[in-house]
This record gives sequence, structure tokens and C-alpha cells, in this order.
Amino acid sequence: MVSSNPTAQPRVNLHSDTATRPTEGMRKAIYDAEVGDEQAGEDPTAIRLQEKVAELLGKEAAVFLPSGTMCNEISYRVWCDHGDEIILEENSHALHYEVGGPGALAGVMTRTIKGTKGWFTADQVEALIRPKSRHMPRQKLVSVENTANMAGGTIWPLDTLKDVAGAARKHGMRVHMDGARLPNAVVASGISFAEFAGPCDSAWIDLSKGLGCPIGGVLAGSKDFIEECWRFKHQFGGALRQSGIVAAAGLYALDHHVERLADDHAHARRLAEGIVDVDGIVVDPASVETNMVFFDIAGTGITAPEFSRRLMVEHEVKISAVQPTVLRAVTYLGIEDPDIEFAVAAIRQVAMEA
Ligand SMILES: *Cc1c(COP(=O)(O)O)cnc(C)c1O
Repeated sequence: MVSSNPTAQPRVNLHSDTATRPTEGMRKAIYDAEVGDEQAGEDPTAIRLQEKVAELLGKEAAVFLPSGTMCNEISYRVWCDHGDEIILEENSHALHYEVGGPGALAGVMTRTIKGTKGWFTADQVEALIRPKSRHMPRQKLVSVENTANMAGGTIWPLDTLKDVAGAARKHGMRVHMDGARLPNAVVASGISFAEFAGPCDSAWIDLSKGLGCPIGGVLAGSKDFIEECWRFKHQFGGALRQSGIVAAAGLYALDHHVERLADDHAHARRLAEGIVDVDGIVVDPASVETNMVFFDIAGTGITAPEFSRRLMVEHEVKISAVQPTVLRAVTYLGIEDPDIEFAVAAIRQVAMEA
């Protein structure tokens, strides 16, 4: 049974890949980091990280930021004026999990598209184009998410992305990529970071998801765009001092934690395969593209929050309910084969006893 200590760690935590912890090698890189005042342009490690990510994404420049959320919000602020419109998918992170940041910080209107597995088409963008009119908001930005978190960690087809970017440009809009899990998309698809970022004016990667760093995101784009981002990094309170302490973790992760994301993807697939035959559960292992498994437990007769509660209380397995009958399990650095087998057994037992 779970301890009565409310701060106790679950035995197997598949809530999110934000649960990664710095590894020993990463902690050593942090210890050894050369540092300086970032705001004065004097932190050599932060500068190295920025240069490395700019090159990786095929952009002129990049800026280190404290979080992925800030990467999105600063991009929206730079690309748009108050009252402008951004187009994004209806389940996107920026819309639901950034506390209204697009409205609060960039002052933008959001217009949504119902996607297929988190991506959408050029025709769907075309269908939302407004006539040029002084009565209407100006359409400035299309924002895409790759992988698409709430669609199941799904990967944008590259040609679809290029078509969407083409439609956006035709109508004077920029394209932004929320690449919180772009490394997962790259490893799973074999498409490079630069190929995915190519159609986009701005793109970023999160360091604190599958890459396993404690903090940070890196946003890339043209020199002029990144220069503007620095203004808002400062204004939003994200300009740092000896940030090389955390940037060192990012450099370490890019060298050591990208290829290994394939293990996370194999673990997710294994989890789905382990529960595919359970009465009352609907899951499609073939739909697992990266490190997430969404499974529907409607057939067990209990709700997803109740299923999640029983997993935690009876088995110390943390898997969150994301819809009334759907749970999301996320694999990451630190989850190993026995954890997956333990979670599979727990899910099977809760389903059987429901
Ligand atoms: C986690 C996440 C973010 C925000 O990143 P933080 O580093 O947690 O601020 C943005 N977009 C997506 C798709 C995410 O999953």
C-alpha cells in the first residue's frame, strides 16, 4: 500500500517525462561547468549551448530560456502585436496548459483547428483565412506542436508540415514549432532536427522532458528574431546570470540522451502490447509513435480518474487520467524494463478487479 506520506514517490511514475532526474554524468557536467554573467553575454557554457542548438535546428541563432513555456510565449510576443491572431491545434499545449499565456503575455487571439493526430493540413489553414479588413484581427502566426502531446506523442508528417508552412507564408503568416518533444520525433522518424525546423521561422526544444535536464528550453530562429527574444526574455524575468550551471546539463543531454530516446519508445510500445488483450481496455500498440501510451478503460466500467486512483493506491503506479475514460502513460530516462512489467501487471489487475 502507498505510504501515508503525501510526498512519497510512486514506485513507478509514468505521469510525465518531466519526472526525469539528472544522471550522475549530467551532475558531473553541471559541477564542471564554466560560468559567467549570462546577461552580459559572458557565460561561455550558455553561449555554447545556444550555438549548438542553432546549428542543430539549422537556424542563425538561439537563446537559452528557463522553460519551454517561455519559448512559446516569447515567440508569440515577438511574432504578434496585441489583437493579432494565431492559429493552432485545438488540443495544443499553448492553448490549455500555459495558463492563458498567449492572451496574458502576447495579447493574442487564438483560433483553433481540429487536427488528425495533432497535425492539420494546408487546406484547414486556408479555410480559416480572413479577408483583409480593418474590422478583423490580423493573422500573424501558425503554431504547430511536434510531437503533439495530447494527440498521443504523434509526429507531424514532414510534407504536411511543409504544405502548412507554405499556406501560412502565402497569407503573410509566420510558422512556429513547439518542439518540446522534437527530439522524440527525430529519433522515431529518422527525420533530422533541421528538416523539421526548416519550414518554421522559430522552433525550440525542451531540455527538461525526455532529454533529462532539470531546467530549460532553447529557442532558435533568425538573428533578428532571437535579438527580439532577448528583450522579452529580460522583460518576462527570464534573463539569467550564471546559467551555464544548467546549460551544461543541456550540452551533456544533447551528447548523451538523444539516441537513447529509442529505448523510451520501445518501452511505450511494450506497455501498450502488454495491455492490448485486457478486457475493458482499448489501446492500439501501432498508434504508439514515441514515448506515450493513451489507453481507454471505458469497458472496465470505472472512470479514468478512479482507475488512476486505484493504480496509485493499490500498486504505487502513477498514470494520469487525461479524459473521462482515457489515461496517458509516459516513458522516459529512468524507466526501465522491470518498471514497464510492473506497470503492465498493475493495469491488468486493476482492470480485472474493476
Ligand atoms: C511541457 C510542454 C511545454 C512546456 O514546457 P516546460 O518546459 O514544461 O515549460 C510546451 N509544449 C508542450 C507540447 C509540452 O509538452
